[in-house]
Amino acid sequence: MSVSALHPAHRDGRSIFPSRVFEAGEVKRVLKTGHQSRKIGKVVMKGHRKGWPIFTLTLEERATCPRSCQAWGWCYGNNMQAAERIVADHALEAGLWRELEQLQRAHPGGYLVRVHILGDFYSVGYVDLWARALKAFPALHVFGFSARDPGCDPIGQALDQLASADWQRFALRFSGRPGSERASRLVSGDEVDEAAILCPAQTGATDCCATCALCWQSAKSIAFRRH
Ligand code: SF4
Repeated sequence: MSVSALHPAHRDGRSIFPSRVFEAGEVKRVLKTGHQSRKIGKVVMKGHRKGWPIFTLTLEERATCPRSCQAWGWCYGNNMQAAERIVADHALEAGLWRELEQLQRAHPGGYLVRVHILGDFYSVGYVDLWARALKAFPALHVFGFSARDPGCDPIGQALDQLASADWQRFALRFSGRPGSERASRLVSGDEVDEAAILCPAQTGATDCCATCALCWQSAKSIAFRRH
């Protein structure tokens, strides 16, 4: 579903489901088990990280995203009423740190966090929190996507630095970036992106991220078919 430029959510930069946006203190945990997301999966089923649990983080779409995002009007969040979005503030960051610390103790062999089911990195300070967490919690491994521009957005630049420095721990792809590595792109209809691998979950070759593992095992760019 797409919202027009006249819709208040489009104009003000927020979710169309304000009742599904929660303060960190209002929810049990800010990180959810991947089990709650059919497209992600609970535990890695293949590759060298087999057996690792997967967790997800969902922020408020548009409120945390760059205005330049190509999906601003037709964001997936428009179709995800049930998703629990966490307000991006100090309470989120404190809760996130606490939970990453708990996960380090519970899964010292390794765990994965998918950022962000909705929303994006919203400040350089927030990127820095992830950089500090990677140092503090050796079991933490991150994968995900960002619409931040690594060329001219300071948040994108900080993300690019982090991903370049340690892709194995911080596998972050830039949406819409050209090239055959560390990017994700949308293709429409039968369009073929020679420089990217089409997400196997979309072709039916696999079930979900847990059974695919491509996003953290390879730096190759990923293409997604726009529905
Ligand atoms: S390529 Fe694999 S790991 Fe990446 S989003 Fe698609 S199913 Fe998930």
